[in-house]
Amino acid sequence: MPIVPDTKDWTWVAERRCDECGFDPATVVTADVAPLLRRTAERWVSFLSGEHEDLRRRPDDSRWAPIEYAAHVRDVIRIYDERLRLMVETDDPLYQNWDQDQSAVDERYLELDPADISRAIASEGPALADRFAAVTDWQRPGRRSDGARFTTESFARYFLHDLLHHLQDVGA
Ligand SMILES: [Zn+2]
Repeated sequence: MPIVPDTKDWTWVAERRCDECGFDPATVVTADVAPLLRRTAERWVSFLSGEHEDLRRRPDDSRWAPIEYAAHVRDVIRIYDERLRLMVETDDPLYQNWDQDQSAVDERYLELDPADISRAIASEGPALADRFAAVTDWQRPGRRSDGARFTTESFARYFLHDLLHHLQDVGA
């Protein structure tokens, strides 16, 4: 049951509103990043601890099950923590490539325990919020291996959209 790899280029969400989830980057100023990340992490934790019929059921062949989206969000937080550290500490870093669809398969997202994912998001989300709160230069550059370029500011918006958009994907 293949999930179609997400080859769609989502980098525009750092610039304009997403019609699917309503996220509007123009309304997110840099001072909002850390508090918005804390609130979003809390929403994921509360979603994972709520009642669900089946977190492991995929709605169709092209979409992940809620547990897979949650595990993806946990990994996004980890990877963006490392990327943000690189952007702050080094000049114009090239991020290591991350194949998110391959990670879902390799790390068996479907078999993970929601409580473990919840605990990870509850501790690592606020830790990354602290790292964002400490950013003083929001124009530091970084690059992805596909050529997409970010500043600490657009990177933060892109990242927040990912977490919020997937809340909608899981119906939270
Ligand atoms: Zn969206």
